[in-house]
Amino acid sequence: MEIISIPKRSDTKTILTLFGTRPEIIKLAPVIWAIERHSDKWRSVTVSSSQHTGLLRPFIREFGINIDHDLGVMTPGQTPNAVLARVVEAIEPLLFAERPDLVLVQGDTTTAIAGALAAFYARIPVAHVEAGLRTGDRYSPFPEEMNRRLITQLADLHFAATDKNVGILLAEGVQKKCIELTGNPVVDTLKHILAHSSISTPLSKLLDSLWDKKLIVLTTHRRENFGQVMSSHLRALRRFVERHEEIELIFSVHPNPSVRAVVDAEFTGVGRIHCIEPLEYADFIHLLSRAWLIVSDSGGIQEEAPSLGKPLLILRDTTERPEVLECGVGKLVGHSGEHLEKLLEESLIDSTWFDVVNAVENPFGKGDAGDRIASAIEKFLEAREEALL
Ligand code: UDP
Repeated sequence: MEIISIPKRSDTKTILTLFGTRPEIIKLAPVIWAIERHSDKWRSVTVSSSQHTGLLRPFIREFGINIDHDLGVMTPGQTPNAVLARVVEAIEPLLFAERPDLVLVQGDTTTAIAGALAAFYARIPVAHVEAGLRTGDRYSPFPEEMNRRLITQLADLHFAATDKNVGILLAEGVQKKCIELTGNPVVDTLKHILAHSSISTPLSKLLDSLWDKKLIVLTTHRRENFGQVMSSHLRALRRFVERHEEIELIFSVHPNPSVRAVVDAEFTGVGRIHCIEPLEYADFIHLLSRAWLIVSDSGGIQEEAPSLGKPLLILRDTTERPEVLECGVGKLVGHSGEHLEKLLEESLIDSTWFDVVNAVENPFGKGDAGDRIASAIEKFLEAREEALL
């Protein structure tokens, strides 16, 4: 009988990082860079689910990330169930082939919950970047609030951005030794971009032509705002722009057809409203930094606004980032166009909000989250190795 020898695993640890959407790569890029700085002892494997192909690709290029495996799961009109099923199925053989020592996921996307679940089923430890965010409403944002709660159940290691996030995890029974306070890596990315990139010529031309205007930067594409809510927000913005000649609005329009339909209905042919295709990160950050006011339903922009010292009207009725309200940078608009219009008018006549925002200290960290996460991973892998000996 021939006895087969199974090759011994080397001392090199493999860390598999999974992402599939724009916000995930924005926040994981500094973590991947930090992991790659440890290439003497770690092997970094990057996997894109391509949950959002078109929006994701330019960011991967911009951040210089090399994709080792692309699961290519995106289909037109995909539902969260379809994405979940396709990612779980596609990643399983990869987990067996790569045999990672740790799977890293970020945030609350369907890609992240699928990756965490598949890793758990394969008995591979899971680490969660941006852990402990909660709105308290399981349907808002949907399905992200439930995704992040479930990822907490699956994860072995939780990277929390703020003290509040740590408190939430502890209250849910996560052990203190499994939580690391790191700040949010979006601050690292933003700082990196501001230090190393310049604005593109087309955006620079547009901004130069608006130099003496008060600029509103708008993004909105959350599923729970589709339809009536989004229409009433856009109508309120249109009326505000029409009333005030000094206001110009730039809207980065998400490719989702539900967004495009509302934009066509509410903004077509309106002067001083500029609808543009989504920008690469460097341009978008330069655009935000030139804003008078930001209006958005995005999660990441709630962290970027205090980092840039810009006031933000949040097109949601709840936020999982109460820090942005408490520090004075953000105000919750809710679902009503009338309320949005009232807040816009107030912003124009009362500058005290802008003074508060200018002096704010960023509650989301100092820009060293990537390194803090890498150090915590190192500690975790060493402790695990000792426990297995
Ligand atoms: N963003 C970008 N270009 C744009 C619009 C947004 O780079 O044209 C960035 C923005 O700075 C933020 C992220 O995309 O970091 C937000 O993504 P999204 O709103 O899709 O997700 P969320 O933040 O709500 O999870």
